[in-house]
Amino acid sequence: MLFRQIVGQKELIESLIKAVSLGRVPHAQLFWGPEGNEKLALALAYAQYLNCTNRLYASQGADLGGLSSDSCGQCPSCRKFEKLVHPDLHFIYPNNINGGSVKKDSQSLDYIDLWRETLLKNDAEFSYNEWIEKMDIGDRQAIINIRDCGRILQTLSLKSSEARFRIIVIWMIEKLSPTIASTLLKTLEEPEPQTVFLLVSENTDQILPTILSRTQMVKVPRIENADIERHLLARGVEAATAHRAAGESSGNLITARLRCSHNEIRENFHASFADWMRLCFRVDMPALVAFAERQKSLGRENLKFFFEHCMDEIHACLLIGNNCADKVFADAEEKKFWTNFSKFVTGENINHYYKIFDDAIFAVGRNAYVPTLITDMSMELCRVLAAAQQALKKAGNGAKA
Ligand SMILES: [Zn+2]
Repeated sequence: MLFRQIVGQKELIESLIKAVSLGRVPHAQLFWGPEGNEKLALALAYAQYLNCTNRLYASQGADLGGLSSDSCGQCPSCRKFEKLVHPDLHFIYPNNINGGSVKKDSQSLDYIDLWRETLLKNDAEFSYNEWIEKMDIGDRQAIINIRDCGRILQTLSLKSSEARFRIIVIWMIEKLSPTIASTLLKTLEEPEPQTVFLLVSENTDQILPTILSRTQMVKVPRIENADIERHLLARGVEAATAHRAAGESSGNLITARLRCSHNEIRENFHASFADWMRLCFRVDMPALVAFAERQKSLGRENLKFFFEHCMDEIHACLLIGNNCADKVFADAEEKKFWTNFSKFVTGENINHYYKIFDDAIFAVGRNAYVPTLITDMSMELCRVLAAAQQALKKAGNGAKA
């Protein structure tokens, strides 16, 4: 991975380049920040840069997309880093048995092919949940376990084979089982020479303080929406879609990419959501049962996305109802529906709506039976809407969805 392939984060990249140029390479760094902000990609690009034997510099005429320096991408070290097969690049990440190819005593190494493939396919940007799904471990939790710690120690006991810096990347260090953390502490405190630990985390409050205190924290902020939009445009995404996906991404690249790939079905999502709310408003139970049956064909992943989409629509209604229409990305039909529906979305009931969809996303992940789940949701939504109508009547505003 090259620094110039990373979406946004220019300032942070420059600070890493500068530290390296001053010979300041801490032995343990923690790249932390919210999901979808290129932390893992940054750690990988940094690792590659540390070991590149032919670094490029803008001051020497290299075109590095606005950066002052970067890896060459061509030297033998870079080539191995780009394929993630460098013998001095080690990965630890949460894992568990999957009952299939990994039946007992799982460790990161059991999934190394899948890990490399997932990293390369997604430019090192994917969520913990996506990783769990890839491993196919069902509803088991993925953790970093004693075998993984054992492997780190074993790796450290061997001489590094060829690189300037031996790199150990631990993704989602917060998933380190607390009972075995002590195994790592001594290593983090007194590392082997020329060994660099790059820890990556989304929830630093779940990391043991003893680990935190032994690492240098590198805060990775959310990506700017403008950087995400530029990235999507460069990937050939149509301008309106890129603008919208970036605007709705909250600086999360994973969300933005998903939004783009779901753009086509998204129009159907809006139509489905509007129909559903109208049926709930009329408490048309036979039609609601038929609606629930139809949603089964979406499949679980799309269904989760549909529920997230419903929450976005509810949120848009709240914004419009509170004179913040300029914060909402919408076409004419959506805006018209949301403006009408916004009367039934208030500060009092918004959490009730969110809870209905949130619980449903959880239930879909737990293999709930879809038609029953959606029918139950419909009944709950009917109740929320009836209460909202009542409140409006009381306030003297008769209304129609
Ligand atoms: Zn190189």
